[in-house]
Amino acid sequence: MRTIFLGAPGTGKGTQAAVLAGKFLIPQISTGDILRKAVKDGTELGKKAKIIMESGALVSDDIIIGLIEERLVQPDCAEGYILDGFPRTIAQAESLDDMLKDASPIKAVVYFDVNEDEIVKRLTSRRTCSKCGYNYNMITDPPPADNVCGKCCGTVIQRDDDKESTVRNRLLVYKEKTEPLKEYYEKQNKLHLVNGNRNVEEIRAELVEFYNKLAC
Ligand SMILES: [Zn+2]
Repeated sequence: MRTIFLGAPGTGKGTQAAVLAGKFLIPQISTGDILRKAVKDGTELGKKAKIIMESGALVSDDIIIGLIEERLVQPDCAEGYILDGFPRTIAQAESLDDMLKDASPIKAVVYFDVNEDEIVKRLTSRRTCSKCGYNYNMITDPPPADNVCGKCCGTVIQRDDDKESTVRNRLLVYKEKTEPLKEYYEKQNKLHLVNGNRNVEEIRAELVEFYNKLAC
């Protein structure tokens, strides 16, 4: 069950990855998590990454790919894994194929298809208390009408990261760099499209069925 979850931010893939990983007892692997762990453990790559991050620069593909390679040979990956948020570019996907060519290749890539307006709606719905940091959600857990936090009486605001212009920008970067992976894996006959516009339960049920088949 060596799989990749692919999709724009806000498609809900992280949530589904966590549920499936728990159900099928395989690790959910995100580059953010392994980067933080390598830095904390002080591994060779972790030390390099720390210096780069402290300088404010982005960690290079070489280091990310090195970390993924270290992670995928851990014993808990033997029965499979869900790569969540990696690869992010064609170059990274090619490195991953190269890395796995003598081992077990990726079996399936789950692509979360959600229409752009829905993504923008989801990603711009968060409101945050500027005092206690509590996260409200305009759809599921709206703040009081006067924007005074119900927990601490602080002011509820929309963070810059959650504003529509920032979100649209992130989606542009995604379209340019990551969306081409859809075609890349389609050519390898590994792509499994999931309609992510539905509710969490329906998507989960479809994915559980899909993973049960993969396991056979
Ligand atoms: Zn508050």
